[in-house]
Amino acid sequence: MMNYHVLTLFPEMIQNGCNTSILGRAMEKKLVSIEAIDIRSYSQNKHRKVDDYPYGGGAGMVMQAQPVYDACMDLQNKLGKKPRIIYMTPQGRVFNQAIAEELAKEEDLVFLCGHYEGIDERVLEMVVTDYISAGDYVLTGGELPAMMMIDCITRLVPGVLNNEISADIESFHDNLLEYPQYTRPELFMGQRVPEVLLSGHHAKIEQWRREQSIQRTLKWRPDLLKQANLTNKEQEYLEQLKTLKN
Ligand code: SAM
Repeated sequence: MMNYHVLTLFPEMIQNGCNTSILGRAMEKKLVSIEAIDIRSYSQNKHRKVDDYPYGGGAGMVMQAQPVYDACMDLQNKLGKKPRIIYMTPQGRVFNQAIAEELAKEEDLVFLCGHYEGIDERVLEMVVTDYISAGDYVLTGGELPAMMMIDCITRLVPGVLNNEISADIESFHDNLLEYPQYTRPELFMGQRVPEVLLSGHHAKIEQWRREQSIQRTLKWRPDLLKQANLTNKEQEYLEQLKTLKN
């Protein structure tokens, strides 16, 4: 069971974004739980204010340390342990499948979502264990990146996907992109499904799929190939493709 706790100023965004499809079913089946904690409810300010102007000047507002700190401590006390607290930030490690696989081993994960110009540095230094980015671009808040991570990690929780093996052979698992997929009908607007997929010959299908994976990775994400797990034969196939390309 994986328990997610999202600290946010916009809890309804998390609640509305996580209750459909595979994620919704995973919650119903009690394989995961998602709790959205409203940072504002920890404000000690009579107007429930949670942000203020940045010291030193500059544009925008900064989320204050106290409500974030109190929300984290309250959660830590309820859990009875110090969980991993992930701050969603464009300054962090860029999220990828390997990080998802590592985080999927935890029982509790806390996502701290910033907004405006971010969060007072002092509280980040006190509570955050991981700094993770959705990619090299700036969003208005950490909620979408947190939901993106929750979606990705949930697929790795045992029992969530019907087909247990499907997460293992997908894009990035082996540092290769996945092969192309086809479904009925066999003929669509004059285009046939590749013959080998209809052959019923499992070894041939497997080999064709691996070759397709290598081809597309070379075409679209050659950077991944340096770390791909290839057999000697596959390595030879890759070298052939490279010579054809040049
Ligand atoms: N001033 C910050 C900076 O330049 O690093 C950016 C603040 S951003 C406008 C507001 C919040 O959105 C951040 O605190 C963070 O939680 C979230 N955020 C924005 N872009 C993100 C990204 N690429 N990955 C993860 N979180 C992001």
